[in-house]
Amino acid sequence: MRSRIFIKLLAAFVFVIAATTITIDFSVRRAWEASLRQEINRNLIQKTLLLAHRVEVEHTQSLQDIASQEAQAASARATIIDPTGKVLADSEAQASTMENHAQRKEFVAALHGKVGSDERRSRTLGVPFLYVAAPISGGAVRFAYPLSELEATTQLVRHTLWFSSGLAFIVALVIAAITAQYSARRLRRIVGFAERIASGDLSARIAEGSSDRIGQVAAALDKTARKLEESFSALQTSQRQLETLLNSMQDAVIAVDADGRVQWANRGMDRLALQRTRLHAPIVETVRDPDFLTALSGATDTQRVTARRAASIIPGRTFDVTAAPMPGGGAVAVLRDLTETERVEKTRRDFIANVSHELRTPLTSIQGYTETLLDSSPDSNHAREFLEIIRKNAARMSRLTEDLLTLARVESGEQPFDIQPVAPGELLEEAAQSFRDIARNQHVEIVVENSAPNPVKADREAIHQVFSNLIDNALKYGGGEIVLGSLPGKHNVEFYVRDSGPGIGSEHLQRLFERFYRVDKARSRESGGTGLGLAIAKHIVLAHGGTIRAESELNHGSTFLFTLPVAQSS
Ligand code: ADP
Repeated sequence: MRSRIFIKLLAAFVFVIAATTITIDFSVRRAWEASLRQEINRNLIQKTLLLAHRVEVEHTQSLQDIASQEAQAASARATIIDPTGKVLADSEAQASTMENHAQRKEFVAALHGKVGSDERRSRTLGVPFLYVAAPISGGAVRFAYPLSELEATTQLVRHTLWFSSGLAFIVALVIAAITAQYSARRLRRIVGFAERIASGDLSARIAEGSSDRIGQVAAALDKTARKLEESFSALQTSQRQLETLLNSMQDAVIAVDADGRVQWANRGMDRLALQRTRLHAPIVETVRDPDFLTALSGATDTQRVTARRAASIIPGRTFDVTAAPMPGGGAVAVLRDLTETERVEKTRRDFIANVSHELRTPLTSIQGYTETLLDSSPDSNHAREFLEIIRKNAARMSRLTEDLLTLARVESGEQPFDIQPVAPGELLEEAAQSFRDIARNQHVEIVVENSAPNPVKADREAIHQVFSNLIDNALKYGGGEIVLGSLPGKHNVEFYVRDSGPGIGSEHLQRLFERFYRVDKARSRESGGTGLGLAIAKHIVLAHGGTIRAESELNHGSTFLFTLPVAQSS
């Protein structure tokens, strides 16, 4: 990591240094060189003009002497020619041996009366020279200035530039190395911190004092870690609370994932399972009860709460299993031990059934003897009246014991039902038929409306009992017209018994189907009611897999509705 930062930094430095060097070399050095050249040129022109002037005015010294003196003073070569180009004097060579100079570019201009200049390599010395020639009355004078010195200076400047660049490069190298080392160390600390967080150590922190970009990243990561630790500990606390809560429950709770593997189980489950629940093991290894497993898979597949009774988790004990789907797949099941509740329920039912049974014989005998006494026409009116009261109450008690026995049988599930497909119309007709005469005596009309064609699954006798209880109530408490009917549904047929009597207050509707619940006690007793008719009807309907309810509004009659499953529906 360090070398990568180092290389990047170094590359940036090298780029900047190279760009600067090239810029200086190309533009600054060239400008500087051009201005130097210009300066030399101007200088040389002045000196040439001075030489021309001296040659013109001074006749005391020879041309050769003037040339030599001026050449020395100007550090340049001085040459004097006549108008034909013949060299008259030269500071560095024998004039007579020199070739004709009339064609030299600077001399061509000077012989035409102008100052001429040229820059070229000397044929004799091979170095570059700046030539400036000026006209005189008998020819022209010229200075030749060697530019080799200018070149040497330029070269020196260039070398200094490259040397400085090299030095800057070394400094950049050192700075890049130090910076890379420093940044890499800080980044390594951040990476180490991130690794600690990833491995679950949320208490890890990076103490970064600096406020540069890396410092800002470190501070942001620190903040994230702190928040993560806070959320995690809050999560752990609520999880512990939940665990304690679930463990303190009497009910067993177990959660499985979508693959049917145990995810979690409370202590209640451990107490219940024969061997300790193994996490991540298939649920069938812990509980094999088919109803339990069906409830779990039902909740997972349908994403709905599914309830079942499981009787083989522990032999001799019954559990109420409620499985609910979990958001991420799988399900959680709660198992409630119903054994004790069922035992108490059964004892209660048995007791009621036994009492009712035991009362049957004495009641029959009371009824029999009372009727015999009434038949023997007692002398006193009082005795007749008392006997009549005894007969009426014995009959009522007998009905009560009969109803109690029926209810106990239906509730316990001991009453066997002969479930067959039956046409709804037949059920309605049978019910209407058996009450038509009684109704007519009370000036009540019974009407049948049947619109459900599909047969339903029903025990004729039992459903007849339901209709009897409902029609009996409609006759007792209702009045006017009684309508029996059925409505087809997708999986069920809904039957109804509607009267146009005084109706029932909405506050009673929920409780009507409870045992001994009566809206008007006096009226019920007077009409021979036991308070058990609707409870019996409810249990028969439930045993058929249906539901029962009442709809009513005061002064607008009452409707009792119950459903039965359609026979061929799958
Ligand atoms: P009961 O033997 O008293 O009729 P039920 O269980 O059959 O007992 O009915 C419970 C109570 O519901 C009745 O006492 C009565 O007050 C009320 N009830 C039932 N059917 C009707 C109805 N069709 N109209 C008004 N009230 C009714």
